[in-house]
Amino acid sequence: MRLTVLSGPSGVGKGTVVAEVRRRHPQVWVSVSCTTRAPRPGETDGVEYHFVDAEEFAQMVKTGELLEHAMFAGHAYGTPRAPLGERLAAGVPCLLEIELQGARQVRAVMPDARFVFLAPPSWEELVRRLTGRGTEPTEVIIRRLDRARIELAAETEFDAVVVNDDVTAAAERLVSLVAAG
Ligand code: ADP
Ligand code: 5GP
Repeated sequence: MRLTVLSGPSGVGKGTVVAEVRRRHPQVWVSVSCTTRAPRPGETDGVEYHFVDAEEFAQMVKTGELLEHAMFAGHAYGTPRAPLGERLAAGVPCLLEIELQGARQVRAVMPDARFVFLAPPSWEELVRRLTGRGTEPTEVIIRRLDRARIELAAETEFDAVVVNDDVTAAAERLVSLVAAG
């Protein structure tokens, strides 16, 4: 089974679309990343992320437990290698939701994976979503918007683009790419 990697600018709706995929298509295994950021309200350790401290994260990097890792808006994020390897070996359709630097690292080691870019309908809509989530202070939003400008420019590196206009439609388009193998 070919791995699918979803990336795209912060605030485009990656988390929302992936949550919809989990709900509608439980046969798709979604990797749970490790991060040093704090849980947002409603997030549960082990579900959206494994929440770890900087020391634990550094240890995982050192022991090679992470397939890829990157800093994003002041926090570390990484994909545990072993659980993904097990699912792929068992032929389970797998999905990673990671930012651009991580996607590039995965491409370097797994060039056969399918890289999908989740794009906003427009820049204005992206700003609206990023501001509207209401979970981050202004300086964090500014940092994420700076990063989003860079990430939008990378769209052409990807194998496929899904526009997140409607959540359900975007989730279905993503799943059809995951299932295409
Ligand atoms: P990301 O994981 O890419 O940073 P989120 O999933 O947290 O983004 O979504 C950012 C905001 O945009 C949230 O408030 C979410 O409810 C909203 N959102 C996501 N997808 C859509 C959509 N298709 N239409 C309108 N709002 C959306
Ligand atoms: P958030 O803090 O909003 O959940 O995620 C911030 C960014 O980190 C998003 O772009 C998300 O895709 C990315 N991200 C989540 N998990 C990982 C991971 O394991 N590795 C990398 N490189 N990025 C990740």
